[in-house]
Formats: sequence, structure tokens, C-alpha cells
Amino acid sequence: MTTTDPAQTTKYVFDFSEGDKDQKDLLGGKGANLAEMVRLGLPVPPGFTISTGACRAYLEAGTVPAGLDDQVAAHLATLEETRGKKLGDPDDPLLVSVRSGAKFSMPGMMETVLNIGLNDASVHGLAAQSDNPRFAWDSYRRLIQMFGKTVQHIDGERFEHALEELKERKGVHGDLDLDAADLEELVGAFREIVREHTGSDFPQDPREQLAAAIDAVFSSWNSDRAVLYRRQERIPNELGTAVNVVAMVFGNTGPDSGTGVCFTRDPATGAQGVYGDYLQNAQGEDVVAGIRNTVPLAQLEEIDKVSYDELLRIMALLEGHYRDLCDIEFTIERGTLWMLQTRVGKRTAAAAFRIATQLVDEGLIDADEAVRRVSGAQLVQLMFPRFDTSPGSAGEKAQVLGRGMSASPGAAVGKAVFDSYTAVKWSRSGEKVILVRRETNPDDLNGMIAAEGILTSRGGKTSHAAVVARGMGKTCVCGAEELNVDTKRRRLTAPDGTVIDEGDVISVDGSSGLVYAGEVPVMAPPVVEYFEGALDADAAEADDLVRAVDRVMARADEVRRLRVRANADTVADAERARRFGGEGIGLCRTEHMFLGERRQHVERLILAEDDEARAQALDALLPLQRWDFLQILTAMDGLPTTIRLLDPPLHEFLPNITELSVRVALAESRGEANENDLRLMQAVHSLHEQNPMLGLRGVRLGLVVPGLFDLQVRAIAEATAQLIKMGRDPQPEIMIPLVGSVQELEIIRADSLKVLAEVAEQTGVDFPALIGTMIELPRAAMTAGQIAEAAEFFSFGTNDLTQTTWGFSRDDVEAAFFSTYLEMGIFGVSPFETLDVEGVGELVKIGTERGRATRPDLKVGVCGEHGGDPDSVHFFHKVGLDYVSCSPFRIPVARLEAGRVALVDQLAEGGAGADSR
Ligand code: PEP
Ligand code: MG
Repeated sequence: MTTTDPAQTTKYVFDFSEGDKDQKDLLGGKGANLAEMVRLGLPVPPGFTISTGACRAYLEAGTVPAGLDDQVAAHLATLEETRGKKLGDPDDPLLVSVRSGAKFSMPGMMETVLNIGLNDASVHGLAAQSDNPRFAWDSYRRLIQMFGKTVQHIDGERFEHALEELKERKGVHGDLDLDAADLEELVGAFREIVREHTGSDFPQDPREQLAAAIDAVFSSWNSDRAVLYRRQERIPNELGTAVNVVAMVFGNTGPDSGTGVCFTRDPATGAQGVYGDYLQNAQGEDVVAGIRNTVPLAQLEEIDKVSYDELLRIMALLEGHYRDLCDIEFTIERGTLWMLQTRVGKRTAAAAFRIATQLVDEGLIDADEAVRRVSGAQLVQLMFPRFDTSPGSAGEKAQVLGRGMSASPGAAVGKAVFDSYTAVKWSRSGEKVILVRRETNPDDLNGMIAAEGILTSRGGKTSHAAVVARGMGKTCVCGAEELNVDTKRRRLTAPDGTVIDEGDVISVDGSSGLVYAGEVPVMAPPVVEYFEGALDADAAEADDLVRAVDRVMARADEVRRLRVRANADTVADAERARRFGGEGIGLCRTEHMFLGERRQHVERLILAEDDEARAQALDALLPLQRWDFLQILTAMDGLPTTIRLLDPPLHEFLPNITELSVRVALAESRGEANENDLRLMQAVHSLHEQNPMLGLRGVRLGLVVPGLFDLQVRAIAEATAQLIKMGRDPQPEIMIPLVGSVQELEIIRADSLKVLAEVAEQTGVDFPALIGTMIELPRAAMTAGQIAEAAEFFSFGTNDLTQTTWGFSRDDVEAAFFSTYLEMGIFGVSPFETLDVEGVGELVKIGTERGRATRPDLKVGVCGEHGGDPDSVHFFHKVGLDYVSCSPFRIPVARLEAGRVALVDQLAEGGAGADSR
């Protein structure tokens, strides 16, 4: 133990009376909120918080930082004084809990040890003081069990087995049927397990217990499951956890005690009311773990009316104070209510939108805050399809296996699997699976991630499965008690005797709690109908969720600076883009316009040996291309439409090399060699590339295939002129892909301007058409100052820019090693999903700055897939882009996130500080 003058060292330990809710960085979420409840005068058991800084120092050095032991000792002395008891005193022991609590909630990921201070002597003191030996021995066995598992890393199953064995021997079913003598016997068995595993006795020194528990909580920050959870939730690894040491209050002293979890509103729907679970004569972990079945909180009114009324008063007070849904853990010890924890509660996506607008109506928050309180990721969830079991539908007759609690919404279909290992294995081989368990525990996290949905037969809405699934946005039905889940035989049996074996398909409805046999068809949810324009938010049939989404979106649209466009190259997509609020097309890829029947013209173009043959091929393509653009520009009338000239390598338009070789060989063997096939074969060979992504594509094509880009520009120009003559308002923008140097662009630009002038002359219609470029190569970003001289707009192609910055091709690497990189933490998330801000983002920033330095009115957007990713949208706002372009379905998400980041920016400018996570 290090002894240093505490005055000389960093302050690591804070009494609950020293903090408040805004100190989550220092005290973690639990510590900060406990401090806040103390400030509000609520009944919180006394205690103190060891800061996240202490954890960081511990993890860095591998040992407790200098001064921490002394500070803990000093605070413990104060706690002993307050309670009038000494830790582990043999006659009347003070007991404490040691609880983890990071800045962001990580349910079930890190460790908690209760009842520290019990040993062979003080268990008798507790029995005498409480006049309840059963309670004392129960508390002691829990300490050994939790300490053994958490601190000494003994397999928890060993304790569970010993408990089960004892119950069997005594012929009882529940834990509560064990009496004091049974539990004393169990303590003996547990101590034997500890001795076997560690080679020594269960530690009897209470201070040693405390120090070891604190170390274990620190270390649990880096447990595999915690690291995995953080990666999933994008919680930074370097934060560390705080540790809360709290005087124990007991929910397991008898029927007048108990413990519970409650929400100030329904976290699944947002409805106001009394929501929660209560478990009589139990300690907190029993509720969260979903081990025994709880009763609804409303029943507490009958059990203990005084505590119930007091709890409801506190719930209202906390919700008003936090101006949000709070989730609360409490314990009742012999009729006295104690608050163990509160926090702004997790909620489903639908509840988030409903609650945000309800709070506006209640005057607790304003419309801007409502926008900040929901997220694009939640909106995505509301746009997921749902089961169609309406009358007359194919799903109407779907066989219901049973019903559980609707823990996390969504419609999931997959093959039933009964353990996490199988879930991961099957999903890796491309199967969709539903993880079916009696209850989940933190070790199931991998399986939960791999599964489409989760089904449990035990545990309430606050069980591990429910909390974690909600956090991950995964469909979950929990507590489906009527389903008999047999994980050993890998089957589930419905009340009507139907058996679902591993591999059988089931459908799980997280919104209704229903579980079906087989695959139930899905349909578009109301929020999608609303975006499609098929459901008016003011119409009677629109529900409060649609109205909430409408209000939030309206405000986001008012405040956002970023424009949102679509990546669309068909009329259907363009029309949907408009309905979904798209303000133009940011990327119309033209490659599909050269496939199918038109391929023959491209082949002729490639094989052309003279100008005449080339001109014939181009002439055949021109009317087809003009028709394409007429349609798209008509659909986007009045809105900018960025048309990208041909990008992919030419060989994509030629026959497959193997098939062609076979065809030629067969023909030759019959002595019927076809001249055209032979030439085609030669072309295919000469166009074959080792790395097509880095080969003859983009602007390079335009430069080496005479007339190709001119043809496309002419088609755009003629379509535009025709539409203008018809009184329409087409707004084409011509975009050149994969430019690396300004010279490339200058040549294409000069050619294009010539074609535009010719068409203007021929048609008598003069029209503006911007000519710009994609920035998708690092060289383009670095030389953006020069490139802007020849470009009226930039659009960052962050798909290619990511590939070329990292030097890997997406098609090759995603399957090959991305999962390894994610596991190793090299990526927190794939750089193709969320922009790699430090690398690729820096190039976007440099490119924008340099481009605008040359041409201050340069229009800058992005059209890689990142344009529809929430975190990336925030970045694009911050570096000053004018618009993002994404697939039509992502447009609402991009609109919402663009609004949110604008508001977060305003807050930060106002000095209030903001966290846009
Ligand atoms: C890009 O590279 O980001 C882009 C939009 O182009 P594509 O995905 O078509 O290569
Ligand atoms: Mg590209």
C-alpha cells in the first residue's frame, strides 16, 4: 500500500455531497446523479465516488495511483462516522457496495460487489443486530458469490450449481425457501469453492475486500464484453469508469423490504404512467438479472402504500428536474425508501420522438431541444419494416407460438438458435438468426449482436436482454414465460405443443411481443408512409408517433444549414427522393445506362477502328442517353441534378473473359471462328486490369475513348434544351469523376463547353450548366486549389476517397479482414460506414479549404455513402460543406442530423457546451 501525503496528490475521491449531475466526466453517470439526488434532498444512502481519473491512472500504471488508498480511507472514516458503525465490525458491521459507473451507461458490462464488510465474525453481528439470521447468511453468501466471480474470477456457474444442488437436496424450489441454517451451509460450500480455486480462504479483512473490489471494478473496464460494448456504442475507450462506494441498505431483510426499477414514463412507448418492476425480499441484482419474476410496480401500492406514494412523488420530482424520462433503482428496507440510482433513461426510438414532443407540450423543453434529443439512428429504426398480419394478408394466418413483453420494437425473422456461439457462427455464414435464451447475461453480447432479434422466456422489461437490446436497437421479446425454452435440447415448445427446433424459422415482433412460427411477411411502417406522402401527419389515421416525427422534422428543416440531396439514377428513386425531402440529386450515376441491350453499342465503341465506326456507335447511344436525362431532369424539375459522366472500367461493359474464351474455343474447335468474337477477345485481354479500381476509369476513360464524354454532355444539353423549350426548369450539373490533376479536368471542361455551345447554337436555347468534379483521390484533395480553377463545384466521393486514402479496395478487404480489425480495435467502426475523420476527413477539410481559397463561391458537397451517416453528417456540417447526398431512404436521417448538428453548434457558440453524441 502506498502512503503519500494526500495534500500532495490529485483529488480522486469525492463525497456524494460534493458533486452534481453535470460532472459525469469526473464522477461517471451514476456518481454524478447520486450527487444530484443528494443535492435535491432525496433519500440516498451515504457514500463516495472514486473518480474516472483514478481508473485511468490505475489502468495506465497497473496499480492504484499514489494517494488513492489514503483518500479512500479518509472517506470511509467519514462514512463510518455518519452511519455510527465500522466497516466489518464483528458486533454491528457497516457494509458497503462497490459499484461501477462510467460516463455513459454500460448496462451489465462492468462489475458490482455488494455486502462488503461481512466475514465469519461480522455475519453473526449482522444476524444479531437485524434479529434476522437468515438475512445475514443470505447477505454473506451473496458477497462470497459476487466477490468470487468478480474479483477472483471464479466461474459463476460453480456457485449457481452449489445453490441448485442445495435446493434439490432440501427439496425446495425458490431461494426464499432456504432458511438460515441452509444458507449457512451454503456459505460453507461457497468458501470451499473459493479455497479450491484460489488456494486460500475467502478474505476476512473488510479493507482487503474493499480494496480488491475497487481494483476489480477498475479492471472490468477492459473486460472483453465491456470493450465490445463500447465499440458497438462508440463509447471512447479512454474514459475509464468511476467507482461508487455506498453504505448498504437491504432489500432482503424480509417481506417489508424489496427492490425495484422504475421509469417515469414507459420506455417502450413514451406513455405516461407507472412503469417498473418490483421484487419483494430481494437485493438489486436479482431484478436487473431477471432471475426471479418481478411484479409490476403498481402492485407496490398494495404491498407498502407509504413507500409507493413517496416513490411516485420522487419520480415526478426527478422527471421535472431532469426534464426527461428518468430510470430509477430503489430499495425499500423495512418500510424505508432509498434511492440507489437514477439517470436519464434509455428508451425505444418511438418513445424518444413521442417523449420529446410531449415535453415540449408540457413546457419542459423547447422545440430545438426536442430535435437534439432524438437521433438519426432512432429515426432509422422507425423506418424498419413491420409484420403485416392485417386481414386478408399472407401473414394473417401466421401461427402464434406465444407472447412475451415487447422489450424492443422491430420485426425480426430468422432461424432459432439457442446459444450465442451458434448465433455468431451461423450469422457469419450468412444465416439470419434469432437468439432464443431463457435469459441473457453479459456473456451473450456477441450472440445478441449477431442475431436479428432476441427472445427470452424469463425476465421483465428491465432484464439484461431488454436493456441491452433496446440500447442496440435490436428487436427483442422478453419474458415469454409460456414458451418452454430448453437450451440443452435446443428447442422451444409452445403451450399448444408445437416444437421449434434449432434451425426452424420464427418471427419475433418486438412491438406487440408476439412470437410466430415461420416467416411472417413485412410491410412499411407508418413513418415511412408519412415520408412517402401516403399518410398526412394531420390526418385522423396518423398516430401520435407520426405527428411527433413530423414536428421534429419540421424544426430540423428550419434550422439546418446543410442541404440534402439524393443519390438517384432512376425516375422511381428520383421521385422518392423528392417525397422524402431531397433538395436535388447529388449523384446520378450513368453506368447502368450502358448495360443490358445497350451493351452492344459500347462493344462497338470499344472495337471501333476508325472514326466512322466510332461515330456510328455514339450516334446509336445518343438518343438513348438523351431519353434517360429527359426523364430524370423531368422528375427533378426545378432542382439541381448532378449527372456524373461514366466512371467504371470499360471491361465491365464487355463479356466475361472466361465465358468469352470458352465461346471462342468452342467455335474454333468447330472451325467456325467468329471475327467479331476474336476482336472482342483481344479487347477484353487488352483491357484486363490487375486493379480495376485503380485502372482505366473515371476521367481517364473520357480522355482515352474519343467522343464518349462528349456524347454524354451532348445528351444532357439536348435534353435540357428540349425541357426549357417545354417551359420546364431543368438544372443539370455535369460532374467528372476520379480527377487527380487539374489538367485532366481542363481538357474535359474545354470539350464540354464546346459541346454545350454547339447545342445552344443548334437549339437556340442558352442555358447554364455547371461543370464540376468529384474529389475522390488524395491528390485531388491536396491540389484542390488548382482543380477549383476548372471546377464550379466539388463533390467528395468518400467511397473512393476512403479506398484510395487507406490503400485498400472495399470489395477485397471487407470480407477478408474487417472483422479482425474491428475485434482488434484498429477500427471502432468500418470507415466505409462512418467517415474516418482523422484521415479521410482531413482530406475533405483540406480539399474544401483549398478549393474555396481559389473560388470562394465553390459549391461543395459529398456523395459517398457517408452522406447519410449521422456522425459523418455532423462532420460535413462542421467543415462547411453545402450539401450531403445519400440514398433516398437515408434522406430523412440526413435532414434530421443536419438539423441536430446545427443546433448543437448554436449551443456551443452560446457557450453552454454540448455533446452531440
Ligand atoms: C464515391 O466514390 O464516393 C462515389 C460516390 O462514387 P462511386 O461509389 O460510384 O465510386
Ligand atoms: Mg467513386
